[in-house]
Amino acid sequence: MTGLWLGLLALVLAGPVPAVLARARWTWQVPRAALVLWQALAVAAFLAALGAGTWATTELLLNPHGLPAAVAVGVVTGLLGGRLAAAGLSVAVRTRRRRQRHRDLVDLLQCGSVTSGGSAVRVVEGQACYAYCLPGREAAVVLSEATLASLSPVELAAVVAHERAHLRARHDLLVEFFTALHQAFPRLVRSGAALQTVRLLVEMLADDAARRKAGERPLANALLALSATPVPAPTASGTVLTAGAAARVRRLAGGGRPGHRGLSALTYGGAAALLTVPTAALVLPWMWAVAEAYALR
Ligand SMILES: [Zn+2]
Repeated sequence: MTGLWLGLLALVLAGPVPAVLARARWTWQVPRAALVLWQALAVAAFLAALGAGTWATTELLLNPHGLPAAVAVGVVTGLLGGRLAAAGLSVAVRTRRRRQRHRDLVDLLQCGSVTSGGSAVRVVEGQACYAYCLPGREAAVVLSEATLASLSPVELAAVVAHERAHLRARHDLLVEFFTALHQAFPRLVRSGAALQTVRLLVEMLADDAARRKAGERPLANALLALSATPVPAPTASGTVLTAGAAARVRRLAGGGRPGHRGLSALTYGGAAALLTVPTAALVLPWMWAVAEAYALR
């Protein structure tokens, strides 16, 4: 039965739980802890699915005539594992290709550079207001000419601090991981809620770094200025500043300081429980039973 419970747990952790968590607004107060919770949720769902697959294999080894449930769970887990590996590889390859094309384009369109916060920012031609970062090799913050013209020095510092926070913490890798997870699930059952929420939380985390550097008002003003003109669609290779801009401006205007210690500790505790409780409750008794069964043979 353990494998069926693990399979059920994997389904609950991959479906209803992310849907509820994506609607929660308290996570906006503790974006760092909330992102850890999202990762714990993804890993717990994956471990439960892996556990179900291992259970199915063991059942079939102990009972060579085969149990229909074990065969079914084994096939489903195998398919999911294969899809996840393929999606991870495909997202990684496509992201790096697109980033290289983007880098070549910036080389072509660069018309100058400015210094902000002690290091250079690349400026490209363009009448649209946008700012983004190119992570990885030759990491860079890129602004359009129009952005440079429309922001005051302190607003510019806020935007650059936001983009540098993305580069420093390699937020692109986190978004890449959730993009691969999203693609691994069949189109019929997947929802974009987890990926969208992780993207928004990543933006809020970078906003917290920027508000510490330049203050809330300049950052909110810069967000409004940048979201007033149409920008290229967000890409996995660079996080465009305007993603979820309205929610982020509301959050900054609310004046709530980030870093609620109690809520943060509770969220980290929830993440730790997600990773340990299923293991302790389901996997350990089952491993014990398997060890006993082999000992009796
Ligand atoms: Zn951003």
